[in-house]
Amino acid sequence: MSKKKDVVSKETMLVADWQALMRIFIRPDTEATRSILVKYMGQILFGLHDFLKNHVGFTEEISLKDLSGRFTDTLINKDPEKKLADVITDLIEDIAPYGVNTASPYFVGHMTSAIPFFMVHLKTIVAALNQNVVKLETSKVASIVEKQVLAKIHRLIYQKDDAFYNEHVQNTDSTLGCFVEDGTLSNITALWVARNVLLAPKEGFEGIEQQGLHAAYRAYGMERSVILVSRLGHYSFRKAGGLLGIGNHNIIAVDLDENNRICIDSLNKTIKEIKQDSGKTGIIAIVGIAGTTETGTVDPLYKLGEICAENGIYFHVDAAWGGPTMMSEKYKHLLKGIELADSVTVDGHKQFYMPMSCGMIYFKDPSIMDNVIYYANYINRPSSVDLGMKSLPGSREATSLILDSALKIMGSNGYALLIDHGIETARKFAEMIKQRPDFELTTPPELNILTYRMCPADIRKKLSAADSEEKRNINKRLNEINRRLQIMQRESGKSFVSRTTLRIKKFPGEEIVVLRCVIMNPMTDMNILGKILDEQEGIYKNNFE
Ligand SMILES: *Cc1c(COP(=O)(O)O)cnc(C)c1O
Repeated sequence: MSKKKDVVSKETMLVADWQALMRIFIRPDTEATRSILVKYMGQILFGLHDFLKNHVGFTEEISLKDLSGRFTDTLINKDPEKKLADVITDLIEDIAPYGVNTASPYFVGHMTSAIPFFMVHLKTIVAALNQNVVKLETSKVASIVEKQVLAKIHRLIYQKDDAFYNEHVQNTDSTLGCFVEDGTLSNITALWVARNVLLAPKEGFEGIEQQGLHAAYRAYGMERSVILVSRLGHYSFRKAGGLLGIGNHNIIAVDLDENNRICIDSLNKTIKEIKQDSGKTGIIAIVGIAGTTETGTVDPLYKLGEICAENGIYFHVDAAWGGPTMMSEKYKHLLKGIELADSVTVDGHKQFYMPMSCGMIYFKDPSIMDNVIYYANYINRPSSVDLGMKSLPGSREATSLILDSALKIMGSNGYALLIDHGIETARKFAEMIKQRPDFELTTPPELNILTYRMCPADIRKKLSAADSEEKRNINKRLNEINRRLQIMQRESGKSFVSRTTLRIKKFPGEEIVVLRCVIMNPMTDMNILGKILDEQEGIYKNNFE
C-alpha cells in the first residue's frame, strides 16, 4: 500500500497510501488543518449560495445528449485524481450549473423548491454525527428525539390530550409514527399495516405477514383485496399494490366529482358492489388525498372518515403534500377530517422545506404498527427504542434532528406564513390567468397548485361553437401546442412550469394537456408569474400563430 515517500511527491502527487488515509480519518487538531476545513465549508455555503443567487434561470441550455456525452468514463481510477478542494470546485462550477436551480423563483413546476439556508447546516450536522437510528446502540438520543418530534406532528394531526402524549411520547411499546425515506415509502408502510389488519391472524391462520396472500385469502374465503383511491391518487399506491402482492389492478381508481375530489356517490356505489359479492373481495383501505399531486385538491376527508367508520374500513390519508397546511390557522380547516384517519402520510421534503429526502407516516392507534414488527437478535430487541423494528427501511439517518430543529427555528407560525403565501399567490395567479385572453384556467387552486393551458381567445371562440367531434379535434391541436410550449419553455431554461394530462368537466371523456404550477417558493411573486405567462405568450406567437 505504501509508496516511495519523498517530500516533493507527497506535496504534488496524489497517492492512495496509509498516511493519506489516516489524514482523512483523524479529526483535524491543528489550527492549519482546521482552517482548511472551515475554508471548504465556506466554499460550499457561499460558492453554492452565490451560484444559486446569480443563476437567474433554472438550468443551462444544453441538450441531454451533449451532457451525457461528457459522462462516459466507466473506469475507477486506481490512484486518487483530485483533492477535496478541487472536487468541491468541480461540483460548484461544472455540475451545479447543469443541474436544476430548484431555488429559482421561476421554477414553479414541481414540489421541489428553495429551502431555508439553515437546512444546509442542519443536514451537515446529521452527516457529521452519522447516527443510525435503526437501533438505539448507534443512535441513543437521536432515537429519543425522533419519538418526540413524531409526537409533535402526531399532535398536530390528531389533537389528543396531554395524558395521551405523556403516555406515548417516549413509550417503547408505542409507535405514533415512523420516519422513512419519502412519501412513497410512507404510503407503502400505511398500506402494509392496513393489509395486515384486514388479513390478521385468527384461529387456524397465523396472519398474512407469516403465511402469505394465498393462505390469507383461503382463510378469509376471499379471492382478492382492493384499495380505493380517487383517480388522482399518487402512483405510489400502484407500487404498493404490486409490492403487497394484491396486484396493482386492485388499486381501484374512483371517479372524481366536478371539483377533482373523490366522488362520494361513486365511492359508495363501489363499496356496495363489493359488499354484494359475498365477501370474495376485501377492502384493505380507502385513501383520501390531502393535496393531490396534479391539482392540489383535497378530498372530503371528514365524509370519507365517516364512510370508513360506518363500514369498518381502514382509512388512510395521503397528506404528503398538504399536511403542513395544518399549521396555518387560516387554512387548516381545508384538512378537516384528517384526524379521523387511521394513518397519515406527510413529506418533510415538501412543505416542511427540508432537504431531500424525508417521509413520515403517522398512526392514530399507537400499537397498530405491531402488525409489521420485526425483531433481530443482534439489533432490534423487543420493547427497546430500536426504531428499525417497525420501519420499512433498515439503516437510516437521523432526519428527525433536522425537522425538530427546523420546527424550533420556524415555529408553526413561520411555516404558516409560507403556506398562506403559497395559497394566496396561487389564487391571485388564477385571477391573472383568467384575465389574460390567451389562457384558460383548467383547475382552480384549492391549496397552492393550479393548472391552466394556452387557449387563445380565437380558438376558444371556435371551441365553444364547435360540435363534439370538432371539439375533440381542436383539443387535440391544443394538447399538441401546450405540450410543445412547455418543452420549449423548459429548454430555454429561464422558467419552468410542469405539464400533465387531466380529464376536466368541460370536456367529458377527453384527455386535456395542461400546464401545472406549484407555488411554494416565498420569492415567487405576481411579477414573476406574470413574466412566466409573458414568455409563454411569446413562445405561442413565435411558433404557433
Ligand atoms: C409527492 C407525493 C407522494 C410521493 O412522495 P415522494 O416523496 O415523491 O415519494 C405521494 N403522494 C402525494 C399526494 C404526493 O404529492
